[in-house]
Amino acid sequence: MDPIIELAHNRGIVVIEDAAQAHGAEYNGRKVGSLGDATCFSFYPGKNMTTGEGGMITTNDDDLAEQLKRIRTHGEERPYWVARQGHNYRMPEIAAAIGAVQLKRLPGFLQERRKNAEYLSEKLGVLGKLVMPREPAGRKHAWYLFTPRLRGANAGKRNKLVEKLRSKNIGCSVYYESPVHMLPYYRDLQSTRRSALPETERACRQVFSLPVHPMLKQTEIQYVADSVKRAI
Ligand SMILES: *Cc1c(COP(=O)(O)O)cnc(C)c1O
Repeated sequence: MDPIIELAHNRGIVVIEDAAQAHGAEYNGRKVGSLGDATCFSFYPGKNMTTGEGGMITTNDDDLAEQLKRIRTHGEERPYWVARQGHNYRMPEIAAAIGAVQLKRLPGFLQERRKNAEYLSEKLGVLGKLVMPREPAGRKHAWYLFTPRLRGANAGKRNKLVEKLRSKNIGCSVYYESPVHMLPYYRDLQSTRRSALPETERACRQVFSLPVHPMLKQTEIQYVADSVKRAI
């Protein structure tokens, strides 16, 4: 984030963090949500914490905060005084009540995710067949996804592996099927044609994600590790 923020600010570019999967992640002792000019969190049901649906923007910029509050409520500067274009993006009280409880439980959820991720890292890292997700010094992973990457002779067999694990009732998934620049909405843009980002496209064909969510039982995470080991 430091090089990105430096590069952007030297050119007058605003940095918006996509922290939709990163609740609780840290960078050099600072939590995500305080690094860029603004940060977007998702509270979709599958995320590290939820409000049922919805999300939140954090910022330290008072002017931006004021504009965001107006956009949230029909562009109103004060009640029924529309000063700019806006929408209805208010979080319902019921969702906020769920979120308040979830926020208290977040540290526990993250601890469980970490425990599961560390277990898989230990069991699968020694196989030498996978590039494992890592947590460099000074960083704290939120472990929303646990995403290894196949390498070497096995690199082309990702789909086969995923199929095998799914047949064993393991919630193995590929995030994401397509990189952003190859999605229909973007791929026709001249600068983001297919093959424009070969490393991204290669990684996209080789990664898969294993469950590390907080509801996993010890026997289940063992089953995941054993099954991956056997399949590989
Ligand atoms: C979930 C997610 C989103 C979308 O969040 P919504 O709450 O559905 O708007 C955006 N970016 C990433 C990286 C996500 O994981």
